[in-house]
Amino acid sequence: MIQKNKKLFAGLTIGYFILPFINIYFAFLALLCMGIPFYLLFKNNKNKWCSGICPRADYLSLFRVFSFGKKAPDWLLGDKFKRNLLMYFCFNLIFITMSSFMVYSGNMAPIDKVRLFIAFQLPWNMPQLLTLSIDSPVLLHLAFRFYSLMLSSTILGSFLATVYKPRTWCVICPVKTLSTAYLDRTNKTKEVQNG
Ligand code: SF4
Repeated sequence: MIQKNKKLFAGLTIGYFILPFINIYFAFLALLCMGIPFYLLFKNNKNKWCSGICPRADYLSLFRVFSFGKKAPDWLLGDKFKRNLLMYFCFNLIFITMSSFMVYSGNMAPIDKVRLFIAFQLPWNMPQLLTLSIDSPVLLHLAFRFYSLMLSSTILGSFLATVYKPRTWCVICPVKTLSTAYLDRTNKTKEVQNG
């Protein structure tokens, strides 16, 4: 039964990347993946998302079938790389916010293409099987940016899962880095308060 659920959750990750071919606005589902982990963290004071809910973790576990399973280098799993990756994601979110504001103010055309790792734009247009009557350049821009962000991190996670252990991404994942930092700080504060 547990195995079935894991497959279902892994399918959610794959489904996330297919649905925007029907309509790009499905890419906004990424907000759930960004919001729910922190909602659960603040509510329970525990990293519940990473301990069994996260669909991406189940997707990465599928790689155990053909992963080379090499030992990841120390620099990849170290604090410095985790910090740099977190900074990259923060920079990415700042870029999304700023560029959306520029689109909103009419100073920039929406980027309605997928760009991997911010810089590498895919040369083809995404097919849209269902056209919605939402005429908002900002939402269009935002949807493509969220899709690009999710796809870039999943490609990186899949690459790591192929070369190293399947869940290597989970060691450096920004969601986990932030959650761990929050829990460390909360626990230290509690220790000080309890004397
Ligand atoms: S570390 Fe990241 S990918 Fe892994 S379970 Fe947590 S949120 Fe999901």
